[in-house]
Amino acid sequence: MPYRYGTEQNRSKQYIKPWYAIPNNHNSSKKVLIIGGGISGAATAYSLANRGYSVKLYEKSHKLASGASGNYQAILYNTGAGDYMPLKELSFNSYSYTNNLVKLLLTPGTEYQTSGLIQLAYNSKTLKQQQKILKSQLPPNFCYSVNKTQMQELSGVSIQCEAGIYYPHGMWLNPSSLIHKLANHPNIEVILNNQVINLELNKTNNNKFQWEIVTNQDVLDNAPNLVLCNSYLLNHFKQTANLKLHVTRGQISKIKNASNLNTIICSNGYVIPNLNDCYTIGATFKNYPALTSAGEDKLNIILDEHQENLSHILPYVPELSADINPNNIEGQANLRAHTHDYLPLVGPLANYTEFKQCYKSLALDANYKIETQCPYLPGLYINALFGSKGMLTAPMCGEIIADYIDNTPCAVSESLRQALHPNRLWIKDIIRSKIT
Ligand SMILES: Cc1cc2nc3c(=O)[nH]c(=O)nc-3n(C[C@H](O)[C@H](O)[C@H](O)COP(=O)(O)OP(=O)(O)OC[C@H]3O[C@@H](n4cnc5c(N)ncnc54)[C@H](O)[C@@H]3O)c2cc1C
Repeated sequence: MPYRYGTEQNRSKQYIKPWYAIPNNHNSSKKVLIIGGGISGAATAYSLANRGYSVKLYEKSHKLASGASGNYQAILYNTGAGDYMPLKELSFNSYSYTNNLVKLLLTPGTEYQTSGLIQLAYNSKTLKQQQKILKSQLPPNFCYSVNKTQMQELSGVSIQCEAGIYYPHGMWLNPSSLIHKLANHPNIEVILNNQVINLELNKTNNNKFQWEIVTNQDVLDNAPNLVLCNSYLLNHFKQTANLKLHVTRGQISKIKNASNLNTIICSNGYVIPNLNDCYTIGATFKNYPALTSAGEDKLNIILDEHQENLSHILPYVPELSADINPNNIEGQANLRAHTHDYLPLVGPLANYTEFKQCYKSLALDANYKIETQCPYLPGLYINALFGSKGMLTAPMCGEIIADYIDNTPCAVSESLRQALHPNRLWIKDIIRSKIT
């Protein structure tokens, strides 16, 4: 067998698309470098550290959780909506995984709260969607239908909407607390204020591959395993330059006030109950079709975006408006990065030039049966592009990366593992003849 495929029972003799195979160039080193100190980097580090790996986590900023993972509050959000199976499976598996992780590591009340979440049926489209959700096969106690009186009893505030769905396990958390707890592990060393500029693959004297990470001409470190968790800057390296990603700016509004709110309430925006003396209303989505710079210049707070956030939630929870002065709201803005299919990139990376050469016949016939082994870059993995749900999904994807590096059966189904595989982007481009 030129390559390994999934769990033991999955290694059947049927044709396996080699670009989705698990790399067979596994190394036995216990050293891993990770780039990016947000939720994806910290969670990947934690999963590997728990398996005995020695992890160095490199972050360009002066603190962890300085990118999209640095919001005051975030929601662990899974409505059960949508028909695309991989997204559904990822959301359900992650919902349970991250819920447990949060309860294991954080303190209730001050760092997270299982407040429950009400999704309002605020127009005929959402009402229809909710009826579909309620008819679909969902885990017991995952959600149930609620009327206006029930929503008011649950949330503690008056609500201008007749129907909705209640998710009793809905939870908010302080992302920074989770990231710091994940990174606070004896096997993890955090190195701040270091932006990795280049990645170089070299061979050691004893003929083993190792990655060197380079900043401003200095080699920072080296290791046989390297994981890229650096979100919208993912394709700023020569090895990743051909990965297409999409960027959206998002702004949350932080309201310094005490509310009577007990549950998260979602319409086309959301409001989260108080953490200390503030609560959050969010969040905007603004496309950045061509983000060429590092993106930090896109992070100023925009008053209109506060107004937009308020306009999505206050009509349904009008009593909140009494104490909000739109000119006196704090905010946080950050960049989300996502793929064309809204699934993150989780898995090994190939050499782009060799990859397009190996599989170019697919441009002529997408069903062409090719056996050529995938030209993976040894020891290089990606865990990135989590879009608007990274607090929910990135931790479990960290486990998947740990499975690749540790050579253990994958934490998710084989179909989900393949759906998350970075190679799907380049294969799609070849089939659509964007690569020749
Ligand atoms: C306004 C807003 C609201 C959101 N609300 C929610 C929510 O309620 N629930 C939810 O699940 N998700 C939410 N999200 C999405 C979630 O925050 C992201 O999906 C998640 O934070 C992505 O995590 P990450 O670790 O991949 O990226 P980031 O948190 O952006 O971390 C990447 C890190 O890499 C560092 N970095 C980049 N390049 C380099 C380099 N070359 N060298 C060293 N370091 C580097 C950056 O400084 C950064 O710290 C929200 C996002 C936004 C913007």
